[in-house]
Amino acid sequence: MPFDYDLFVIGGGSAGVRCARISATHGAKVAIAEERFWGGTCVNVGCVPKKIMVNAAEYGQWIADAPAFGWTVQRSGFDLGHLAAARDAEVARLNGIYGKLLQGAGCTIFEARATLADPHTIEVGGRRVTAERIVIATGGKPVRPEELPGAELGMVSDDLFELKALPRRLTVVGSGYIGLEFACIFHGLGSEVDIVYRNELPLRGFDVDIRVALKEALTTQGIRQHVPRQLARLDRADGEGGVVITLDNGARIETDAVLLATGRTPNVHGLGLDAVGVECTAKGAIEVDEDHRTTVPSIFAIGDVTDKLNLTPMATAVGHALADTLFGRNPRQASYRNVPTAVFTSPPIGTVGMTEADAAACGPVDIYLTRFTPMRHSISRREGRKAVMKLVVCQRTRCVLGAHMLGEDAAEIMQGIGIAVAMGATKEDFDRTIGIHPTAAEEFVTLRTRTREAGLRAAAE
Ligand SMILES: Cc1cc2nc3c(=O)[nH]c(=O)nc-3n(C[C@H](O)[C@H](O)[C@H](O)COP(=O)(O)OP(=O)(O)OC[C@H]3O[C@@H](n4cnc5c(N)ncnc54)[C@H](O)[C@@H]3O)c2cc1C
Repeated sequence: MPFDYDLFVIGGGSAGVRCARISATHGAKVAIAEERFWGGTCVNVGCVPKKIMVNAAEYGQWIADAPAFGWTVQRSGFDLGHLAAARDAEVARLNGIYGKLLQGAGCTIFEARATLADPHTIEVGGRRVTAERIVIATGGKPVRPEELPGAELGMVSDDLFELKALPRRLTVVGSGYIGLEFACIFHGLGSEVDIVYRNELPLRGFDVDIRVALKEALTTQGIRQHVPRQLARLDRADGEGGVVITLDNGARIETDAVLLATGRTPNVHGLGLDAVGVECTAKGAIEVDEDHRTTVPSIFAIGDVTDKLNLTPMATAVGHALADTLFGRNPRQASYRNVPTAVFTSPPIGTVGMTEADAAACGPVDIYLTRFTPMRHSISRREGRKAVMKLVVCQRTRCVLGAHMLGEDAAEIMQGIGIAVAMGATKEDFDRTIGIHPTAAEEFVTLRTRTREAGLRAAAE
């Protein structure tokens, strides 16, 4: 039976757009549906608008540093409405580019919600269409903890992009990368910021030295951290329109705005997965095999809806690999190993490969660690700007298993280090690379003295 399309993609975010566009350029007849905004989370309520706000916060810090370098400057205020207009115009421009890319590649576009009717049939915009293969790329969405009394008084990350005025006081709940990034952004823009999280250290899953250094840097900058604490309830404050937060130890925080950054969940609700037989994991993500095929052979799932490594470059890489596999006569899989990533806190973090704890669980490792004040801040004297750089090296092979940095330009630096780690570079490869002077990055190739050993017990077991 002929199908209307070779491929139907549900969701026009990073993963879906890349998969649709590349499949079409391989000659497939492709349709794609998007119910909300082309470009998905990344372009509209994620990486792009967030990074513009990170840039805005950095300007404030540079202005504050400038007098130390001889400049006479006057810092006379920040207008979130102005920034929001510039940011939204850039997002609109990118939306348009995504639409044009898809049309240029010959994809049929549906600006409507799509759901599954059977393994080859999709309901979209009041119509039924068929496809030989279907790709689900519906992403994720922020979770509002409904069990928390007063949760409706808090914002989720999507809501932050609707703010037109800066809250005088912001409380962030959660210490994942999204919560921490917004804590630093709003602190940099001039809000008073509190963070509440339930572990002793922020950023669970990252290397411990980086987590410790980040906690210190936040404290030094005046971001108050309430740990290890959870929320008991949120109430409206009398009169002023603010919110009173009650913590599990009874302590109270009065604030003007609350960001609930306690997690995201895969966007699967109402897609018709059960009826068609597509199974989900216990955490609600779509279950896929190594080729991103679901439990229904004609249906695939990619990106955040599979909840594997929720990053834009991963979503596009997987979407591209699937398109090449299905229609490009080039079966391949995108690797989830050694994916470099950044956290745009202040200072930012860059990381690639294994943490010390993960590596040490596998065998003995040598740790090289340095902490220093970057040259700029020897002059600016700005507090909370110490850089930390760390290499985790396998004792047996001498391969660099992980590289971690907290400090200015960490994201830019880690992209290059990521290539070396993915190629299996050894510590000696790092050592014989000549540094670029004077930079912070050169520390990665001048870490001569081992700081400590770890993982010896794992080796003995
Ligand atoms: C605040 C924030 C900051 C982030 N910062 C970074 C960062 O700095 N770097 C980074 O790499 N990643 C970052 N991410 C993560 C990144 O945005 C995601 O990993 C990425 O967008 C996932 O792409 P996706 O295509 O899987 O899903 P999405 O981009 O979420 O796209 C899914 C699309 O599907 C649509 N959709 C859903 N259901 C249907 C349906 N039934 N029919 C039609 N359309 C549907 C949605 O409207 C959406 O547009 C950030 C995320 C957030 C929330």
